[in-house]
Amino acid sequence: MTTPQKDPSMALQKEMLATYFDELSRAKEDNRKVVYTFVPGNLTELVRSFDLLPVYPEINALQNGMRRLSDDYIAEAERFGHSEDVCTYVKSDIGMMLKGNIGPTGRPLPKPDLLLLSYTGCFVFMKWFENLKAMYDCPAVMLHVPYQSEGEATPAMRDYVVKQLREEVIPALEKVSGKAYDETRLRAMLTKSAKAEDGLVKALESAKQKPSPIDAYFGGVYYVGPIFTAFRGTDDCIRYYDHLNDEIDRKIAAKEGPVTPEGIMTEQRYRLVVEGPPNWTHFRDFWKLFHDMKAVVVASTYTKVGGLYDRGFRHDPNRPLETLADYCMGCYTNLSLPARTDLLAHYIDKYDADGFLIHSVKSCNSFSAGQLLIMRELEKRTGKPGGFIESDLVDSRYFSAANIKNRLESYLQMIEQTRSTRSA
Ligand code: SF4
Repeated sequence: MTTPQKDPSMALQKEMLATYFDELSRAKEDNRKVVYTFVPGNLTELVRSFDLLPVYPEINALQNGMRRLSDDYIAEAERFGHSEDVCTYVKSDIGMMLKGNIGPTGRPLPKPDLLLLSYTGCFVFMKWFENLKAMYDCPAVMLHVPYQSEGEATPAMRDYVVKQLREEVIPALEKVSGKAYDETRLRAMLTKSAKAEDGLVKALESAKQKPSPIDAYFGGVYYVGPIFTAFRGTDDCIRYYDHLNDEIDRKIAAKEGPVTPEGIMTEQRYRLVVEGPPNWTHFRDFWKLFHDMKAVVVASTYTKVGGLYDRGFRHDPNRPLETLADYCMGCYTNLSLPARTDLLAHYIDKYDADGFLIHSVKSCNSFSAGQLLIMRELEKRTGKPGGFIESDLVDSRYFSAANIKNRLESYLQMIEQTRSTRSA
């Protein structure tokens, strides 16, 4: 296998993450306190405004998956008593902890000083942190984010979240950091977040171009990295998106496709929208299947789990706590099935996609429940063919390249048939 090719922005993102993991490994000697939290509904600016360091167990799990370390951790968690049906992010995380909490880059991870459970739609979040609380014997605080069952966040829902931020989350952060809440500092960080969010949206929307200069699923996971994790609210984050957009502008001018691990994608025969998270243990093989079949992804829902910025939301420094509440309520995991279907229909239309593909992952009920219904509804509404493939997040036992290849081939043939029927 050849060395995977990368855009300079991907290398920069990797460098930023490495620096972050280094910072985490030194946290205790640097006397820094650490808050574990989840990607959807993360309150990174608020956490950082207290000089606390955020840790995201899902990111550790997926990074371990990409490095093929997760299988061992999952086996360890299963030996410890977790069933095969438990979300593999959870088992990877718990297995890593049982084996000494060495992070994906080979450096030790600090124990949490606080668990901040921002609950945005996935019940597993609650069970996951219940386990961590017992194992680490540390304090926890929960932010209950109401589910958008009726398709919108109401003022009463916002007030409910803000009240919890004021009365529970901020006092817990004050206690663990020993610092008082500094709203001026938080506002300054939120201003930076909004700038970076403009940059991310510009990058994702470049996929409306033909050829698309980006892959909005496989490449997209690199592009969302800084905003979905520890960098929102920092100058580094803004710099990353400036750099990324310069790179994309150059590609647009040259009518160049994205760099995939196999090289530049020169021909784009199929433009797809993808629903569901990627497989991480075989990320390169997975991407290669699409590359070899000349399929580029022009929009994806996975790149919205940490915030739905392309529908207009920006963190607003003038309403610091209200904006954090709106952010949490608007994450993809907190949307109802009809709202998810509307979003996908919007992407298929706006990005002029040939069809949409659902990647159903065994681990994640939050994503997988209702996906077949979504598929039927989208086919009816858009008249475009839908495809369905299956694997898992970080458990390599459930990734079969041959199965996915067969299904993908049949699906792309359906697109060809639709094309020939339309042109007849
Ligand atoms: S079930 Fe899905 S959303 Fe929930 S923790 Fe696991 S991967 Fe994340």
